[in-house]
Amino acid sequence: VLVGRILYATHANRRRRDHAAALILQQQERLHMADRQLRLFVEQISDYAIFTISPDLKAQTWNQGVEKVLGYAESEFLGQDIIPAIFTPEDADNGVAAAEFATAAEAGEASNDRWMRRKNGTRFWASGITTGVRDEAGRLLGYNKVLRDVTDRKLAEDELRSLAAELSERDRNKTTFLATLAHELRNPLAPIKNTVQLLEMSSLDVHTQELLDIVQRQTDQMVRLIDDLMDISRISRGRIELKKARTDLASLVATAVEACQPLIYSNGQQLHLQSADRDIVIYADPARITQVISNLLTNASKYNHLGGHIELAYGQQDDQVFIEVRDDGIGIAQNDLEEIFKMFSQGPETIERGSSGLGIGLTLVRSLVELHGGSVAAFSDGVGRGSRFRVVLPLARVSCSEAEAADVPPPPPSGRPRRVLVVDDSRSITLVMSRLLTKLGHHVQTAENGLKALELLSGPAAFRAEVIFSDISMPGMNGYEFVRHLRADPRFAQLWVVAMTGFGQAADRQKAVQAGFSEHVVKPVDVRKLRTILAGLPELDDIPQDPDSARPPPL
Ligand code: ADP
Repeated sequence: VLVGRILYATHANRRRRDHAAALILQQQERLHMADRQLRLFVEQISDYAIFTISPDLKAQTWNQGVEKVLGYAESEFLGQDIIPAIFTPEDADNGVAAAEFATAAEAGEASNDRWMRRKNGTRFWASGITTGVRDEAGRLLGYNKVLRDVTDRKLAEDELRSLAAELSERDRNKTTFLATLAHELRNPLAPIKNTVQLLEMSSLDVHTQELLDIVQRQTDQMVRLIDDLMDISRISRGRIELKKARTDLASLVATAVEACQPLIYSNGQQLHLQSADRDIVIYADPARITQVISNLLTNASKYNHLGGHIELAYGQQDDQVFIEVRDDGIGIAQNDLEEIFKMFSQGPETIERGSSGLGIGLTLVRSLVELHGGSVAAFSDGVGRGSRFRVVLPLARVSCSEAEAADVPPPPPSGRPRRVLVVDDSRSITLVMSRLLTKLGHHVQTAENGLKALELLSGPAAFRAEVIFSDISMPGMNGYEFVRHLRADPRFAQLWVVAMTGFGQAADRQKAVQAGFSEHVVKPVDVRKLRTILAGLPELDDIPQDPDSARPPPL
């Protein structure tokens, strides 16, 4: 029995051992199969170069992708120094290649997106990853590298990027051009406008007066167009400034209506006002909202028939204010209702359009309304069926009396006669300004640049100016240098010096004041503005007359 049991146990043990051995064999077979399958899989991938690299950076394995992407056959590739084989000479020299392996070794992986080199020396944009492989004890066993050629995608992206850069450069150039154009147009316009104002003060016969009215209207129209151009370039550069105040909407509507009335009247059209029954106060830039309403009213008249009808309604709805301009004019095609708000977008030409614009009026309207936190939309039942523009603005949470308090008083008379010096290299400007100021009762002298002005102010028969109006860009000595020279002389330290330029940005104003100007005005200087400045001049009567005194005399 014992011998039988021993034999049985021995047999059973052998069977178990054989079974275990068979299992291990099966397992090894499976692992071997999986390994082989993986190797074949990797080898046969041809779009991706996948290979391993030894710690001393020599190629250890190869797949078909290596041949397709990098151009190396298996026998050429194995054992190659990987850095000179596939990195560009620059990346090999400047340490980029070594850094990639150092990062992979330390951090586990490194990006491989860069220009790389094929066997034949040509370059391609690679995208992939390099990983560091370590054993359980943390010893570096080598690296795995996976990369593919994405040159086409890279070139397309680069092209898109450069196209975007070129477009934005062109856009910047266009905006700068608009600003320069507006500025350059302002210069000749200044003396024209002043000439008209000067002539208006003379007693003219009826016919001349009629002609003058035409020049006046056309000049005003040009000033408006140039201002629009200026605004649009400011908006494009995000430089528009709102001077917000609590304002009675009715007064803005009235100002806009007054400005557009001549056009509406000359087109034989009827304007119907639907006013709200109570005061509405908005917190807004009065000039800008008036501009918005005027632009819409002007369009309602321009894109309408002679004898057409225009309605202007405004009111309050919850915590919002609406302004609506309706007309029974040429209407707008459904597809154009959004399009017309884009810069320079204009509808089809019509014979009745009369004075056309630049296609920026509605762009300005939308930009200005949105800057106020509002919105504007156009509605029309189609061509020939009239249009409706609805502006919505937030309501100010204040009473109307505060708004009335913010009203600007009318300009004062131009004060007692003053000695005025006008400095500008444009003869037209000095001539017209001097005539205008003389007409207002002041004593005027002119100079063509800063140098000539200093001579005039400092010579033995010095002109004792009480106020100076000076241009900025002048040959010889510009306005900044001129005012710096003036301020360096104690006799002129307190003299009122006004900068007159075509540039009206806050930064231009600040620059002028920093240079020493007392204030800054934009050309063309309106006669009302001139009066206001002259009436508000500080009195220098308390200053001693002695020219050698440290304090400035009344020159
Ligand atoms: P502009 O009047 O200088 O062309 P706008 O930006 O003011 O520029 O207007 C853009 C376009 O929108 C106009 O050319 C016109 O086709 C269309 N439009 C504007 N207002 C009206 C309106 N009330 N009725 C019909 N079309 C209009």
